[in-house]
Amino acid sequence: MSWLLIIVSIIIVWVASLYKIINASRSQSNSVFLSTGDKRIVLLVIAHPDDESMFFSPTINYLTSRGHSIYILCMSIGYSLSLINQLSYMCFIIHSHIRSSLTKEIQELCCIFKLQATQFCTSNADGMGNIRKDELYRACAVLKVPPEHVKVLDQVDFQDGFGNVWNRNLLAKIVEEEVITHGIDLIITFDNYGVSGHCNHRDVHHGICNFLTETSCSNIEAWELISINILRKYSGPLDIWLSFLSAMHYPSGKFQCLLNEHPGKSFLAMSEHLSQWVWFRKLFVSFSSYTYVNTLRRIHN
Ligand SMILES: [Zn+2]
Repeated sequence: MSWLLIIVSIIIVWVASLYKIINASRSQSNSVFLSTGDKRIVLLVIAHPDDESMFFSPTINYLTSRGHSIYILCMSIGYSLSLINQLSYMCFIIHSHIRSSLTKEIQELCCIFKLQATQFCTSNADGMGNIRKDELYRACAVLKVPPEHVKVLDQVDFQDGFGNVWNRNLLAKIVEEEVITHGIDLIITFDNYGVSGHCNHRDVHHGICNFLTETSCSNIEAWELISINILRKYSGPLDIWLSFLSAMHYPSGKFQCLLNEHPGKSFLAMSEHLSQWVWFRKLFVSFSSYTYVNTLRRIHN
């Protein structure tokens, strides 16, 4: 009986959270972020095609619905996720997230699959590169980002995969070129954990930090997407309440909590990444709190 009560309570809070998100989209007043009236030119720097839909869609929806101009720089062309590698990838995720709680035997099994996934991830030359690129353009169209605002790199210094250390100084240089070319005045990217702990995400963060330290461009504002623990990460819309609470611990203007005004659009955008649209990605997008809310923290430069 007590279990039934708990389940009913969770469903009620889930529905209430969704109602709060949908209601915020109607009022368009869920945050004061960039609400001074000036239209900003924003550069979102991601590591892989699909990062924009899986992690940043609340931010993208927030910015585009308010008329800000957004550019997306994707540092790699991504890898393919064929059926035979889905199990490897799942083991990789499990190993990365909860290895401390696994038995020794399961850890060893995960390590074997992790090795296979790593080897697979290091190849961009399997004919999937252009497919991943096209998928990103289609997802961006759903998110109202024009194709001429989307740039996907395919360079040896930025190969997708764990174990591939990216050239952070080169990344900083490329970002500086983008900033100058498009007149960017605000950058958004991963924080130093990179949501999933993926080393490519973390390298993007450190590359941006290098850029901020060394750039001669003045008045560049930068924000990072805050990584949250695994319980919050898979709590769906419930996490909006914890995000609001955590925002209260930060000084005003240093932390922004953005509700996704169109969570359905995020699902549609991710579904455009057809080569990645496997069962666990569908589950991820449905239950990930990053589909419903983004919490951004100002990076000091
Ligand atoms: Zn990624």
